[in-house]
Amino acid sequence: MINRINYVNEYYRSVFGERTLKICIDGGFTCPNRDGSKSKGGCIFCSERGSGEHLDQKQSIREQVISTFSKIKVQRANSFILYFQNYSNTYASVQELKQKYDDAISAFYEAKINSTKFADKKLVGLQIATRPDCINDEIAELLNSYRGSLHVSVELGLQTINDDSANFLNRCYTSIDFQNAIRTLRKHDIDCIAHIIVGLPAKSGRESHEDIIRTINFINGLDIQGIKIHSCYVVGGTVLKDLYDKGTYTPLSLEEYKQELVYILTHLRKDIVIHRITGDAPKDILVAPSWNSHKKLVINGITKIFEKEDLYQGMYYKS
Ligand code: SF4
Repeated sequence: MINRINYVNEYYRSVFGERTLKICIDGGFTCPNRDGSKSKGGCIFCSERGSGEHLDQKQSIREQVISTFSKIKVQRANSFILYFQNYSNTYASVQELKQKYDDAISAFYEAKINSTKFADKKLVGLQIATRPDCINDEIAELLNSYRGSLHVSVELGLQTINDDSANFLNRCYTSIDFQNAIRTLRKHDIDCIAHIIVGLPAKSGRESHEDIIRTINFINGLDIQGIKIHSCYVVGGTVLKDLYDKGTYTPLSLEEYKQELVYILTHLRKDIVIHRITGDAPKDILVAPSWNSHKKLVINGITKIFEKEDLYQGMYYKS
């Protein structure tokens, strides 16, 4: 059974007692890697919208949360996590951050009060995606202040432990910055989710399996509670697309990615919750690989490998 891997849906059920969905929010932030404070170009794989193509940038935070309640998906769960998704969602003053997080929380309760249909809906969590160099003690303290009523987690991009590849990616922070951000967040009891990408471009063409081994060892050595994994994909309007067009970067094939994923899933610390194993670039901007837009190819493929090779042994979740 595939759910013996420590997947996030089961984890949420164990923590919140029921199915839990995320309400994705574009908080109107930017990123130090885009506004010129560190760089203007952004990471070479990052799309114009900082991975928030499906979000409505024109709507306020309040409107985004309220409009989510008109979607059918909401009927499928009673517990919700507010998820500030794209760009760097701690890149502002503490006052501004508080205002934005509070706006989202009050919009949730407003939607609940305004319709008896939503009376049973519960807000259980706040999840913030950001960069390690946008975390400090003050911000971690602010996040900690929500822990009285919400499960709070921060998703930090690492992508790779290899700082040479990271420079090539124009990541503009070091793996030590990542490590320091985890320490700061954990000091304030905030759950940390690392984001890694498999098959990244590097000076020599593409990162190797050795890079994956080192990245996983690094993560295993840190106080990290969750991980998001996906294969590197090429979207339009990026430097990576230029490299792909020139033939200097080739994404992993589905088979190659599945093999790397098997390694990762069987070598990660067992308590680390797997939040994602596939990417989800919008079809209209995805350039390559085409298999990336079919999540089931990865999920079903991994399930089959694990069943066939009995790789569940010793793995994770209580059955
Ligand atoms: S840090 Fe994140 S939002 Fe900023 S450029 Fe890199 S991937 Fe994009």
